[in-house]
Amino acid sequence: MSAAKVMSGSLIDPTEILRPEPIHAGKPIALFRDFTIDVNDPIKERVRLHYDSMHKHQTVEFVLEQHERWLKFDKLQATIMEALETLSTMLDQSDPDVDFPNMLHAFQTAERIRQDHPDCEWFQLTGLLHDMGKILALYGEPQWAVTGDTFPVGCAWAESIVYRDSTFLENPDTHDPKYNTKYGIYSPHCGLDNVLMAWGHDEYMYRVLKHNDSKLPEVAHKIIRFHSFYPWHSAGDYMHLCNEDDMEVLTWVLEFNKYDLYTKCDRVPDLDEVMPYYQSLIDKYIPGVLNW
Ligand code: FE
Ligand code: FE
Repeated sequence: MSAAKVMSGSLIDPTEILRPEPIHAGKPIALFRDFTIDVNDPIKERVRLHYDSMHKHQTVEFVLEQHERWLKFDKLQATIMEALETLSTMLDQSDPDVDFPNMLHAFQTAERIRQDHPDCEWFQLTGLLHDMGKILALYGEPQWAVTGDTFPVGCAWAESIVYRDSTFLENPDTHDPKYNTKYGIYSPHCGLDNVLMAWGHDEYMYRVLKHNDSKLPEVAHKIIRFHSFYPWHSAGDYMHLCNEDDMEVLTWVLEFNKYDLYTKCDRVPDLDEVMPYYQSLIDKYIPGVLNW
């Protein structure tokens, strides 16, 4: 199937809307994630409803079903650039005042990393690739199965999950003694690689890269896998499931998060100018046609 034949779907990420604003000097990143409830504010309400659905439906059973459906990698054959372009085409339908094309966010993230880490090619490419799993939305996946902060399924929901107290009540796992204890189906310090994460663009892109023999360092894959795992990387929850490797990954995820959050900045990269550079990184680390 060609990239042009993918089904139509919305790529506005409702959970991004309240996150990224330009960072002003000295203002902590945490202040940009405003999840207060205001039913009269249409944007806040859209975000809340997103998490309402996400937290209701992301169960162990659902995640395993999504693995079954998506980890066959039989949906699309496309190079990285073709897939990126597909995302940007779809975003033409979205509200420019609310979000902007994911392709632009990808290049902006990569370019910000390049400014600060000019010699770290793999980290720059990680910035370019990190949200490409949002291609899921092109196949009719609901937004709650694509975007939003992630968390493990199969154990108790951590306190720091946004809207935690009001949104998990209808999730069957909340009431299942197999899944609702501190460790649930996991053992102490089992490592995040052994944890089932809520299904979305992070896990999918991680799996796409692994399936297609990406030559990026493993930490790059992990950054992509856990970049939306805010309850862990920004709130410090779920440490009881982590092993030593995870703590090393955490350092990089936090470094990456700075650039991911700065998704709206004054300077829009000239894509014609930067494209050859990123193509050379793609050719080095994840060349050719990928199975998605
Ligand atoms: Fe993301
Ligand atoms: Fe992002």
